[in-house]
Amino acid sequence: MLVQTDPAYADQLDQRDPLAHFRERFVIADPDLLYLDGNSLGRLPKATQALAKDFIDHQWGERLIRGWNEGWFTLPERVGAKIAQLIGAQPDEVLVAESTSINLFKLAVAALRFGEGRSRIVTDDLNFPSDLYILQGAIDLLDRQHRIDMIASPDGIHGPVAAIQETLDEQVALLTLSHTVFKSGYMYDIAELTAAAHAAGALVLWDLSHSIGAVPVDLNAANVDLAIGCSYKYLNGGPGAPAFLYIRRDLQERLRNPISGWMGHKDLFQFDMNYQPAAGLRKFLTGTQPLASLALIEPGVDLLLEAGMDQLRAKSIAQTEYLIGLYDALLAPLGFSLNTPRDTQQRGSHVSIGHAEGLRIDLALINDLKVLPDFRAPDNLRLGIAPIYTSYRDIYTSVQRIGQAVTDRLYENYADTTPVVT
Ligand SMILES: *Cc1c(COP(=O)(O)O)cnc(C)c1O
Repeated sequence: MLVQTDPAYADQLDQRDPLAHFRERFVIADPDLLYLDGNSLGRLPKATQALAKDFIDHQWGERLIRGWNEGWFTLPERVGAKIAQLIGAQPDEVLVAESTSINLFKLAVAALRFGEGRSRIVTDDLNFPSDLYILQGAIDLLDRQHRIDMIASPDGIHGPVAAIQETLDEQVALLTLSHTVFKSGYMYDIAELTAAAHAAGALVLWDLSHSIGAVPVDLNAANVDLAIGCSYKYLNGGPGAPAFLYIRRDLQERLRNPISGWMGHKDLFQFDMNYQPAAGLRKFLTGTQPLASLALIEPGVDLLLEAGMDQLRAKSIAQTEYLIGLYDALLAPLGFSLNTPRDTQQRGSHVSIGHAEGLRIDLALINDLKVLPDFRAPDNLRLGIAPIYTSYRDIYTSVQRIGQAVTDRLYENYADTTPVVT
């Protein structure tokens, strides 16, 4: 009988994987390069390659300005409606535009104005630091009437759920958290904390950047107010592709976009001198979007819809379980620690492992061993599972090579200095 640490076991799992064939729909330029960073930048779908050529040669090259009436104008809503299907939202509740950071700024300012008289923003210390920078900027803009209460995780891995629930009171305007946290991969229960925020009369804003495309999310079922997220991670939308925002329908007419611009005007070609917001979500647009990049998000979303989020989640759980099993057998004895929850209910789709020589091991993996994970200070190697294209054999061989970086002392060839992007 095969055991988990047997490479043939990985092959057997791949043979039984009902989603295995989706891997062929992606460009895999070097089959020996093990890619475990789909949670930072997803792979390129082959359909996106074809669309890029069509967009440049035909839509831009031949159709020129006519392209605006042939699909460009409504792209933010059209692609948004598809993304809505991945996160349990209505088609008119999701808009694709701007970056995650800008969307957070717009929605946070709108939410704080909406909650007038309430002065607290509650978040945690596992949140993406840039999200906190954005909130700090929003507070400055609103004349410092608010403060951020950053609730501490008990162990740097798990979310401080009970402490968040306890701190919610009638002074809280906004509870905002990353659904799946970027470092440990801990995943909150959206319904539980949304209900707790609502009980205190606060709005809630979820950052879905590390969830969308890897774990099913049901915003409507949890009655979520606001959400944002990234399209270049598990959605495979391409480097720097625009992000999305979600506003529950009944809130759309009650919130104001703090960066009003012509693309969100109700009658943009009247060139009225006064801003009047468009109906629905469209008013949350500001200016012209990067249309080539926006258009290229769609094939990646189509692939996820075809595969189905429940099937993708089932595979992601099976793969992170498999990875943790290999970690226990092969990496824990080499001085690694597991910095990700063991409970599958509390885990997104990446696994973080720590090591005192984490950065140097990361550099040896990238430069000598053809493994691309990523590194998050102080000692985390993040191993991202993108269930739509990651194979069990990828995971097996990656663990082998991570072990080799330590046993062959390959990391000793590298200095402890961080490159720009890790
Ligand atoms: C990736 C990520 C972002 C990215 O923001 P950009 O505006 O695209 O730079 C924001 N928040 C979280 C939680 C992320 O994981």
